[in-house]
Amino acid sequence: MEKAIIALKKFIEHRKELITTFRDKNQPWHLGNVELSMQLAEGIADFLSNEVQYLDKVVLSLEGEKSKCRHPKKYRDKAGNVWYCMNCNEDLIHRL
Ligand SMILES: [Zn+2]
Repeated sequence: MEKAIIALKKFIEHRKELITTFRDKNQPWHLGNVELSMQLAEGIADFLSNEVQYLDKVVLSLEGEKSKCRHPKKYRDKAGNVWYCMNCNEDLIHRL
């Protein structure tokens, strides 16, 4: 699980670099001298942004799974909106 999170984070970093590059006004597609139009570059950047937002949520969710509590479900109880373990008192983060 640890390795999957690291791999995902690297993937997200790469995506963010792509987004920055596509939005960089000094890149040829923003200067109007390349077949790839500004609209297309912006469109791709928006698409990648949505993807990154989704992946960020996946990582947060996976990291939430790293709860140390291994007690059976019967010990779970709810305090407000948050589930916690009655045995070790650890908050149990919601899963996807
Ligand atoms: Zn517990």
